[in-house]
Amino acid sequence: MAVRSPDGCVAFSGELVLDAWGGGQGLIAAELASATKAGIEIRYDHRATGLLFNGGELSGVRVRTADAVIEIPARAVVLACGGFEANAEMRARYLGPGWELEKVRGTRFNTGEGIRMALENGAMSTGHWSGCHSVAWDSNAPPTGDLAVGDGFNKFSYSYGIMVNAEGRRFMDEGSDLRIRTYSKMGRAILAQPDGFAWQVFDAKAIPLLTDTHRMRGVAKVRAETLEELAEKMEGVNPAGFLEEIRRFNAAICTDIPFDRQVTDGRRTQGLPVDKSNWAQAIEEGPFEAYQVSCGITFTFGGLATDPPTGRVLDVAQRPVPGLHAAGELVGSLFYYGYPGGAGLTAGAVFGRLAGESAARHALTCGAPTMDRSAGG
Ligand SMILES: Cc1cc2nc3c(=O)[nH]c(=O)nc-3n(C[C@H](O)[C@H](O)[C@H](O)COP(=O)(O)OP(=O)(O)OC[C@H]3O[C@@H](n4cnc5c(N)ncnc54)[C@H](O)[C@@H]3O)c2cc1C
Repeated sequence: MAVRSPDGCVAFSGELVLDAWGGGQGLIAAELASATKAGIEIRYDHRATGLLFNGGELSGVRVRTADAVIEIPARAVVLACGGFEANAEMRARYLGPGWELEKVRGTRFNTGEGIRMALENGAMSTGHWSGCHSVAWDSNAPPTGDLAVGDGFNKFSYSYGIMVNAEGRRFMDEGSDLRIRTYSKMGRAILAQPDGFAWQVFDAKAIPLLTDTHRMRGVAKVRAETLEELAEKMEGVNPAGFLEEIRRFNAAICTDIPFDRQVTDGRRTQGLPVDKSNWAQAIEEGPFEAYQVSCGITFTFGGLATDPPTGRVLDVAQRPVPGLHAAGELVGSLFYYGYPGGAGLTAGAVFGRLAGESAARHALTCGAPTMDRSAGG
């Protein structure tokens, strides 16, 4: 949300100030138009499965199509095929027990193959391999991203209400900071609750502040005129525990501090086992709405070690693997424990450009690719 002051200054309430025209679909359409204009060939349904080498030199990639395995010669390769968020086995192995059951916000194709094929050829791993970006995601969302719905299953308005688990208890500070600095930690916190779900609860004051994603058809929502009725409708929640939690929460609010959604307003609770630091408003006026959420993983943090100015992939001796570059989610060491909103596409654009330039330079200065050895399978 932005507010314009009389002198023409625009103040942003900590939300993203830059947007791709048309969202993710608009971004892809713009990139597709640029690539087409530049004469770049795009091949769909071609899954890279291995890197090819000639001696120590990278010489191409092995690719599986619907009906064949082919080899594509290349003097330089930029790996940009995502993290391992859509690979249940790798999620359980690196993020921990329970992560294999989570929903994936985005593509089902980011299964860590780029990371695997580089590691198999001596690349070094780096970064927060047990960490990831994960959000509060509608319990009715499908197992992996739905192209028709896009990001519509997100539930990012928790700052204006409370979140409770199956026992009816709050389990984290819903107002610790601006949404943009907290939303990527919510998925992990929800997954850690009994049965891995939570309900986000709002009263009549907060409902107008909810994002449009709450109004989408098919979301996991219940509505009631009274809290008692709401408690009965919130599937899997202990009603008595929930009603007691609401009473304790409402009584602990510092009501002398005014509510201001534009800033971290300091309107907090005091004395609760888990306090809310900002935007604490009593849950008291019907109608009430509650939304059931689970954990939705966006992308993983662990990945390949690169030389940042060039995007060249480093081997375990910290030397560049000749011709091999990386950009995007599969680059490690970019994020640890948290994530500032908008940093994913920014990192992709910045390091993608560096890697692309470096790969082009490498391709122009080395000879034509030949292939006599394959690796990586
Ligand atoms: C729902 C959602 C909303 C988001 N919103 C934002 C936002 O508002 N702002 C922001 O900055 N970031 C956002 N992100 C994060 C951002 O989209 C990612 O950080 C960024 O797209 C990562 O770029 P990438 O190139 O590494 O991976 P991707 O954009 O995921 O592209 C990887 C591509 O590689 C393909 N692929 C995978 N494996 C193979 C293989 N073996 N062979 C060939 N191709 C393969 C995949 O099909 C995919 O097309 C969002 C992510 C999601 C899921």
